Amino acid sequence: MSKDPDFMCSNKCGFGLHYYYYAYVVNDKGERVFCPPPDPMVTARKILGKEASSDYLKRRTGVNESFVCKKCLYELVLDAQKDPVVCQACRCKELLKTKDLVGKQCPKCRKGTIMENPALQNQPRP
Ligand SMILES: [Zn+2]
Ligand SMILES: [Zn+2]
Repeated sequence: MSKDPDFMCSNKCGFGLHYYYYAYVVNDKGERVFCPPPDPMVTARKILGKEASSDYLKRRTGVNESFVCKKCLYELVLDAQKDPVVCQACRCKELLKTKDLVGKQCPKCRKGTIMENPALQNQPRP
């Protein structure tokens, strides 16, 4: 993850978070392929074929979202509907939605507040 953090600590302690929220489709290799908005189903149909039933589409598509581990602050992206909600770094099951940390106390320094990165505010969000 090389992009600038979407959210950061108001205390400038160096803590930053990357936020992802996007639809995906699973291709035949089992990989999750990003489906760009506004209509993710266009990409999904392209990959699964025009004949794909809506049931099949549903099974092969989902939404990936950013989470952060409450214990070790590891960032991960997963589909909470389909994936085990567990930290890949420390196996802790207490994951927070990255989005839900905005406006809350910084989990690293516990002094600042998590806010949107002001440098990114004028950029279009995916
Ligand atoms: Zn962890
Ligand atoms: Zn902080």
